[in-house]
Amino acid sequence: MPGCEALGEYRAPKSRRDLNHYWWFCLEHVRAYNSTWDFYKGMSPGEIEAQLRADTAWQRPSWPLGRLGSASAWDEELVRDPLHLLAAGRVKRGPIRPKQDMPPELREPLATLGLSWPTTLDAVKTRYKELAKRHHPDANGGDRAAEERLKIINLAYAALRSRLVPVPSVAAAG
Ligand SMILES: [Zn+2]
Repeated sequence: MPGCEALGEYRAPKSRRDLNHYWWFCLEHVRAYNSTWDFYKGMSPGEIEAQLRADTAWQRPSWPLGRLGSASAWDEELVRDPLHLLAAGRVKRGPIRPKQDMPPELREPLATLGLSWPTTLDAVKTRYKELAKRHHPDANGGDRAAEERLKIINLAYAALRSRLVPVPSVAAAG
């Protein structure tokens, strides 16, 4: 990982289609890489790097040791908004409390869409449409940064959609 001076002792496959070739990371970064495996699927190493660097730059100078990938570490302090979607788009961020049943691989996609767990497929779709419209390059004068943001939003949406099942509206109470 660029900028990381720790020894790369842990390997992780480069992609699902290329399981025999590996990136070598330090423990901290291999954890980060593994925890975002689904989310970054299909992104080039350069895009993943840029994303991880944006995360760390925005949040703190280095990864919080031992806290990544732990569901119990999910709290307001750790909510990351790498693209500043929440701040820039005035998306209302609901209260976020520790939820033991939140799949850890959904943490990043949820943060990207500014959603808290638990959520529903309907809520995800609604938020996705809202963000996709706002960050569409056509709505931003063909801005390349908007295009990149939309790409991240699409990835987050795909990750969430694949894990959430439609819930009948009659079961919404509770
Ligand atoms: Zn490292």
